[in-house]
This record gives sequence, structure tokens and C-alpha cells, in this order.
Amino acid sequence: MLQRVNPGNKSLTDYRSIIRRDLYEEIQELSERLRGKRVLHVNATSFGGGVAEILYTLVPLMRDAGLECEWGVMFGAEPFFNVTKSFHNALQGADYDLSVEARAIYEEYNRQSAMALREAKEEWDIMFIHDPQPLLIKHFSGGLSEKTKWIWRCHIDTSTPNRQVLDYISPYIKDYDAQIYTMREYTPPDVDLPNLVLIPPAIDPLSPKNMALSAEDASYIVSQFGVDTERPFLLQVSRFDPWKDPLGVIDVYRLVKEEIPEVQLVLVGSMAHDDPEGWDYWYKTTGYAAGDDDIFLFSNLTNVGAIEVNAFQSLADVVIQKSIREGFGLVVTEALWKARPVVASRVGGIPMQVNKGGGILIDTIPEAAEACIKLLKDPEFAYKMGRTGKEHVRANFLTPRLLRDDLALFAKLLGV
Ligand code: UDP
Repeated sequence: MLQRVNPGNKSLTDYRSIIRRDLYEEIQELSERLRGKRVLHVNATSFGGGVAEILYTLVPLMRDAGLECEWGVMFGAEPFFNVTKSFHNALQGADYDLSVEARAIYEEYNRQSAMALREAKEEWDIMFIHDPQPLLIKHFSGGLSEKTKWIWRCHIDTSTPNRQVLDYISPYIKDYDAQIYTMREYTPPDVDLPNLVLIPPAIDPLSPKNMALSAEDASYIVSQFGVDTERPFLLQVSRFDPWKDPLGVIDVYRLVKEEIPEVQLVLVGSMAHDDPEGWDYWYKTTGYAAGDDDIFLFSNLTNVGAIEVNAFQSLADVVIQKSIREGFGLVVTEALWKARPVVASRVGGIPMQVNKGGGILIDTIPEAAEACIKLLKDPEFAYKMGRTGKEHVRANFLTPRLLRDDLALFAKLLGV
């Protein structure tokens, strides 16, 4: 069997005071219809990145809704992660020459995971496959059983993909009973997806990453890392990856510092197991920041876990997300939920999140710097922006809404 993740327990009743009543009731009604259905989520890692983040909340809430829901991590090792990282970049538009070897590695790990699932002889009503890494499990498992419905959830923007990779994987994508994309703009060009469903992701307002922290507690945590809480700081929380452009963030900070010398910059990045490029980029970024004591770089390896990310996000004067390409951009949702003003690139799911006045969209480094300066100099403007963003997230991007959308899809596929 695949490696099972134990995501702990959660109860929907705890979310009652945060969400609308009709949403709560809708989830209860769907739960009745789906009671006892067996769902297996499969992805490539239990740690780092947005997908794992979502599953830690969604899986317990599906269990709370009465489903028998499990989360399995597929087989993987460095050669596989190197290939799937290249696929990930290629699907987001990077140049890439798809080799026979890369395909063989990709297929072999998917085949092994598929075999393990078949040998386990468990019955699943829904197989919920996340992102391209485990995509071929359906193919190699032969679909497991007649009654199993297969969902492929694409978390990334594949609108301008590398053609070789897209042509290779699109027959497998089409073979699913439903394909979920975050928004229509992310779907691949010229691929007919008759079972397309659009569902944006969401954040968990009650997780350690997002629960309410008092300003005192947040400040206490942040100051332990050497950041001067009496002075303003800009923040970007992201994997160390060219698409997240940490070097560009340092350029933005340098422009801001010319005008506001007391400003500091905090870059927080988790090092994910399926992200071999991360280390190269970590060293590139530390090199680029060298010599400036007001730039702080932290990661999960320097003890910055969920609570610490929460503290940095709760206290930041401006949260930057200078991505060049982005999936949905859960970090932006997290910052908006903490009522922080956000300065973010007009890519991926970011415009959908900050379009209602919760942040400033930028296309260039000077524009980003100008936006940060405006926010730092006008706290009232920054405050109003933060409150607007928070309400937009409450209405659209919290986990109960995602749970409702997924359950509605299960009910449709299973005909209950
Ligand atoms: N994250 C984290 N620590 C870090 C960097 C990122 O916990 O040092 C989390 C972040 O809070 C967010 C997720 O990883 O929940 C990243 O999701 P996003 O959609 O922004 O980007 P992805 O990494 O999936 O491209």
C-alpha cells in the first residue's frame, strides 16, 4: 500500500462561527448522501507546498463528514522527483526536451504505486489524484474496479505548456472521470476536457498556520528570530524556486530601502522533498542577499514551522508575492486572511484573490517597490486594504467552501 499520512482530526462544527449558515447546511446535506463512501487522496509528498497543506485539512473534514477518507503518498525517489519537477516547470511553460529516460522513470514510479494499490485489494469509490506526479496511476492500475470514479486535480497553471510534455500526458488526463482545475484560464490549450470542473482551492482558518494570533504573541515570535519589530518589514513566504522570484523580491526591497531606510525584508521558504532545485536556489538567494543585515532568510530547517509563518504573516507591514508563474498562490490567501496588505504579481490565481481591493497587483519590480512605499507611508490605506482582503477570503477561499465543492462532485459522480 502507499505510505499513509495521518492528518489528525477536525470537526466542521468548529468552523460554524466563521462561515455562512447555508454553506454549513449544504455540507451537512451532502454528508448524509455520501456517508460511508471510500475516498483515497494520492499526491507526491506529505510535506511542503500547497497540496499537502490543503490535504491536512480536507482529509480530516471529509472524515468528519462521514466518509472513509484516506491520504496516500505515492512512491518516489530523487530520479522521479527530478523528472516530475521538470514536468511541473515544463507544464508552466519552461523549455524542456522530453526524453525516453524521463518517461521511463515517470512511468516506473507510477506503475509501482499502481501495483501497490492493486495488491492492497481495497475498494475505493473515489480515487482523488493530485497533480501530474501520480497521474498515470489510473492507467497502470487498470482503474482498480468498475465502480471506482477517478478525479484528477490539477493545481497548476497549464495554459502555456511545453507541448511535448502536454501531448504526452493529455491522453491520461482525458481518461479521468473528472478533471478539476482552479480556473478555466489554467486549462491546457487545444485539449478537450469533457469532464472539466472548476474549483479554486482554499485555506484552513483554524490551522496553526492561519488561526488568530494576538499581536503580542506574533511580535514575541518574530523578535526571537532577530527581526526588529519596532521597524517595518516586508515578507515573502515561498519555496525557493525561480518561479517565486526571491531575487526579484530583494530588488524590490532595495528600491524601497532607498526611500525608507529602516525597512527590513524577511524571506521564508520551506524546503520540500519533491523539490531538488530548492537548495540551488536557496544558495543563490543567500548569495544575492549577502552583506545586508536587514535581510533575513528562514526555512523549516531553521525552525520556521506553521506557527512561525503565521506570526510573520500576521505582523508583516506588506506581504509580497512576486511570482513569475503561480498556481493559485495559497500564501496570498493566507496573508489576506490575516488582513495584511498584499503586493503581488498579476499571475495565476493571484488576481482572483486581490481583485476586490485587498491588495495591489504589479507587473514589474519598480511597480512593486512603489506599491510597498505607498502602503508603508499610508497606514490607514494599508489597514483598509487588509480588512477588504480578509472579507473576500472569508466569502470565497476558506476550506468549508472547498469541502462543499468536492463533496458535490463526489455526489454527482457516484449518482447519490
Ligand atoms: N509554506 C510554508 N513554509 C514556507 C514556505 C511555504 O509553510 O517556508 C507554505 C505556505 O504557507 C503555503 C504553501 O506552503 O501554504 C505554498 O502554497 P502556494 O500555493 O503559495 O505555492 P506552491 O508552493 O504550492 O507553489
